[in-house]
Amino acid sequence: MINLSIRELNQLLAKKQISTAELSSVYLDRCRQFNPSLNALLHINNDINPEDLLTANQIDGLLSGIPIIHKDLFSTQGVTTTAGSKMLADYAPPFDATVVSRLSQAGMMSLGKANMDEFAMGSSNEYSYFGAVKNPWDLKRVPGGSSGGSAAAVAARLTPVATASDTGGSIRQPAAFCGITGIKPSYGRVSRYGMIAFASSLDQGGVMAVSADDCGLVLEAMMGHDDKDSTSIKTEAWQWQAPQQPSMKGLKVGVIPGWVEQLKDDDIKRSTEQALKTLTEQGAELIEVDLPHADLAVAAYYILAPAEASANLARFDGVRFGHQTSQQCDNINAMYRKTRSEGFGDEVQRRIMLGTWALSSGYYDDYYCKAQRIRRLISEDFKQAFSQVDVMAVPVSPEVAFKQGDKSDGVNMYQADQFTIPASLAGLPCLSMPVQPAKGLPVGLQLIGPYFDEQVILSTAAQFQMVTDFHKQMPEAFV
Ligand code: GLN
Repeated sequence: MINLSIRELNQLLAKKQISTAELSSVYLDRCRQFNPSLNALLHINNDINPEDLLTANQIDGLLSGIPIIHKDLFSTQGVTTTAGSKMLADYAPPFDATVVSRLSQAGMMSLGKANMDEFAMGSSNEYSYFGAVKNPWDLKRVPGGSSGGSAAAVAARLTPVATASDTGGSIRQPAAFCGITGIKPSYGRVSRYGMIAFASSLDQGGVMAVSADDCGLVLEAMMGHDDKDSTSIKTEAWQWQAPQQPSMKGLKVGVIPGWVEQLKDDDIKRSTEQALKTLTEQGAELIEVDLPHADLAVAAYYILAPAEASANLARFDGVRFGHQTSQQCDNINAMYRKTRSEGFGDEVQRRIMLGTWALSSGYYDDYYCKAQRIRRLISEDFKQAFSQVDVMAVPVSPEVAFKQGDKSDGVNMYQADQFTIPASLAGLPCLSMPVQPAKGLPVGLQLIGPYFDEQVILSTAAQFQMVTDFHKQMPEAFV
């Protein structure tokens, strides 16, 4: 049961072979059993209201009755929403994020909230105030970040689907490290209303699931214009059309050989090349493309994202939002300082300082403006590449899931985002799908599409998954 697709689960529900109560309790039992070893969840919805459970006659639509876990960045009415921070440890929002309300309108059952790096800053999930998340494939390794809780939960099948967010790689990299499928849609495709902000020009909500088909079904229900988010785009929403058979004839796939060469291990290189070969065996044509400015992406991102974060996080001052120090303070500035030093972890404080500095007069032109120019050049590079190809296939991460504590030097951790950040800066849709594992650990391949073309990446991944079964592999300890 736990390895069934959404379509298969829907069939069981519709044919009354299982009830929504039974289905949710299968997964809730797994949450209770396995979360102590993974720390993937911050909240388990132990008392799903029986009135919320659907009866078989109410199963209309593929998502009706399907369980889901939300990243703790998405506001859930009356349910604690922490963003992985002490600052919001006691915050229960009075409203649902648009993503949450759309999915619950589609009938999905929320089982709980997923752990994450504090305010979505990080690539390992070691920066959560509530403790690190473990990778189900090897508990000594990180699940990736910042959506590591969502990724570990799907990989260990505590849920068939989870929501997640991606600012510079936080859906793709943990999906790759945990051997699941995760899509970050185009910037503006999914409403950010009620999704706690990190870097507003980059943040985008998305989905993690076992397969591309499952991701397509859930994304279809959560995307689309929202009056409450002025950056959500008013284009036609699309309907997910799952491909009926693998046929990539005529599909032009852009590859960057220089990126594959930068992979840190021959096994990962082999897995990546093997996956590209599978695409050609299905009829795709590989075409070499170049993103000449992509080498500057990490440097530009770590100016722009902290700059935006420093502004977004100013509201957490103990008065308007968040934790307030209980210490006696002589004046309001001392109170702000104590509150923010207590409420934010080290990485968040580092970024607030970096961002404030990059935006300060005298440095603004040298850093922030220059980073914006680089961002534009990278977008132009992609435009050029997509004038030659339909989709790009590149690595997600230079290495497999690393051991906890291995990247305690922040810059080392930043560098690990080198293959995910370029598409984020350009706002493009991208996903990670599992390919041949390397030394028993999952490896992902990243597909990037032109702006607003989520379908080409989902459909390519779905076709790849028709002829491979890497996405169905599960970590042994959780079978
Ligand atoms: N690892 C990147 C960072 O730390 C990306 C995080 C994200 O996408 N939320 O900023």
